[in-house]
Amino acid sequence: MATKNSLSKSRYMKGLQCHKALWLATHKPELREESEAANQAFAQGHKVGELAQEIFPGGVLIPFDDLTFDEQLQRTQTALTKAKVIYEAAFMHNGVFVKADIIRKVRGGWELYEVKGSSKVKDIYLDDTAVQYHIITGTGLTITKAFVVHLDTSYRRNGELDLDALFTRHNVTKDVLERQADVKKEIARQSKMLKGKMPDIDIGPWCSDPYECDFMCHCWQDVPDDSVFDLAGKGADTFKLYGQGIKKLKDIPLDQVKGKQLQQVETARSKKTVVSKKGLQQFLDTLRYPLYFLDFETFMESIPSYDDIKPFQQVPFQYSLHWLEKAGGTLYHTEYLAKPGVDPRKEITERLLKDIPECACVLAYWKSFEAGRIKELAEQFPARKKRLLSIIDNMVDLIEPFKARDLYSWKQKGSHSIKAVLPAFVKGMSYDGMEIGDGGAAMEAYHQMCDCADDPKELAQVRKNLLEYCKQDTLAMVKLLEVIEKKVNK
Ligand code: SF4
Repeated sequence: MATKNSLSKSRYMKGLQCHKALWLATHKPELREESEAANQAFAQGHKVGELAQEIFPGGVLIPFDDLTFDEQLQRTQTALTKAKVIYEAAFMHNGVFVKADIIRKVRGGWELYEVKGSSKVKDIYLDDTAVQYHIITGTGLTITKAFVVHLDTSYRRNGELDLDALFTRHNVTKDVLERQADVKKEIARQSKMLKGKMPDIDIGPWCSDPYECDFMCHCWQDVPDDSVFDLAGKGADTFKLYGQGIKKLKDIPLDQVKGKQLQQVETARSKKTVVSKKGLQQFLDTLRYPLYFLDFETFMESIPSYDDIKPFQQVPFQYSLHWLEKAGGTLYHTEYLAKPGVDPRKEITERLLKDIPECACVLAYWKSFEAGRIKELAEQFPARKKRLLSIIDNMVDLIEPFKARDLYSWKQKGSHSIKAVLPAFVKGMSYDGMEIGDGGAAMEAYHQMCDCADDPKELAQVRKNLLEYCKQDTLAMVKLLEVIEKKVNK
């Protein structure tokens, strides 16, 4: 019978990341903070899991909801005697409960399939499959082979989903067998640990690797604002510094950092802004008028909804465009936002080519993203390829002077993201308090827009939020360019 201290596959995996996380989940679950991103990843994974079942049709499903562990175990035992394929089969051995995504009867035993909604096999999936193998074989069932099934990012949808092409199977039997001794020891360690006091584990890289821990709000509560963890880039070991009692960024000894990290600590102390007029002027020299400011929003799906899209491909559904005909001239604006539930690529291509004149200079912030999407549109619409590629040829990246630190404020906390740079230089402008505050939220809003297509009120609100957010991005670029110009002319 399962008890509070019993292990399951997901609890074992949590303990594998950090024993303290498993202990807290067991004894102090109220300290957990639910993450919307984790919930969405779970929902997406569930969708992929259900679809993968169709690779092996006709199986028997052992549902999780509304059944006790014992009922699931019993139903699995019955299914094992007559089914060829079982979805979500349940097993328990030595007090550890696991559910297997798919098992398939073959000569000499069963094959085990662990389904992941990702683009590749990660180490953590091998651990996940290894614990299932350990428990299932512990009950006496023979597993002849173990596989991780994941999405093949080279698959391009063409009509009905081709599941054999969408999913790819990796035989991980060897890795799983190599882990068996460790799995046994780890189960024993976790079981013992759960019976004792909370493990004395300090914060470390394991708090976000491989997953963001849902107890960070508890364990990280003493980390101050402007902490050593704001130190950007590679170099100093921030956890080591923190362990030595150096908690604030400004308190990091200068001999422990170099390059851009040294500059970040120095400016955090002096609160001075770094300005290289020469570098900024060189950047301004690359611009010409009319000058356009472009920003895309995209959606991404693990299972493509439309033809000619690959899993996890970023598909542009919205843009904002500000422009100036001449330096200091009137600022114009236009925008595009796709209708919900339709493939937006044809329409966005035509609108973009209408809105951006041939050979116009186009500014983007982190241009590889915008250029990448335009290149994909060019591949999809060969008749428009030449014009689309010419937009890329005329594109300049506004991130460059900030990346080169020709302009740098300590307020950016070492980040060159527009979300960090904008409030550092433009008073009264930031993304705080916006309904949609980053690209991830915009992506979620796109899906929300499709889900609420039949509710005019909600749809209008979501569209308004999306338009406001994207417009803010290009207006931010306009304002940052003004800042650069002012610094040069000062
Ligand atoms: S926040 Fe870090 S230290 Fe705390 S439980 Fe999670 S992983 Fe462990």
